[in-house]
Amino acid sequence: MTGPWIDVSVPLRNGMSGWPGDKPFERTLTHTIAGGASNNLSQFASSAHVGTHMDAPLHFLADAPSVDSMPIDAVVGPARVVGIADADSICPEHLEPLALQRGERVLFRTRNSDRRLLEHEFARDFVAISPEGARYLAERGVRTVGVDYLSVGAFREESGRETHRVLLGAGVWIVEGLNLADVEPGNYEMICLPLRLAGSDGAPARAVLRRI
Ligand SMILES: [Zn+2]
Repeated sequence: MTGPWIDVSVPLRNGMSGWPGDKPFERTLTHTIAGGASNNLSQFASSAHVGTHMDAPLHFLADAPSVDSMPIDAVVGPARVVGIADADSICPEHLEPLALQRGERVLFRTRNSDRRLLEHEFARDFVAISPEGARYLAERGVRTVGVDYLSVGAFREESGRETHRVLLGAGVWIVEGLNLADVEPGNYEMICLPLRLAGSDGAPARAVLRRI
């Protein structure tokens, strides 16, 4: 028995919040039927790390793999949604009880989801994975890590960079900006497909889950 598909990706729309300093998502119509054209036609411009998206190793490591080389099985298959309640950051003490298996896909549902942070202005105080937590995940050999805000690492630059480097350096694929507000912790089937942007450090993704 499987449940219905739940869309856990963020709609890309003008005015949505993004990482400070990054190019915001902006879609404009270049042709409109109302304006006499034969069709409606959009163009868009954006940071590659907007809304629900993936980070490739190349994001923080020079000469590392880009997003178009991602193995599909990193993001299609069983995934565990883990609830992390009342933590300011995800640390080894939260991870030890999970008995994580090598090759697991793990998605963290934190207070970010309760606060529905992705729907609001950028917030610096989001829950992220600490560098120690990242080292623990890398040592356990997890395949993919997903988080419910725009970065796996904290806003503080040094800490955020370290978390990214540890995970990406260990070959862990990263999904950021998952909307887990209406998703309960448990076991799911995941499909999360980033756009195949050739040579890119990241790409927006469509992500869906269904309970198994
Ligand atoms: Zn990113």
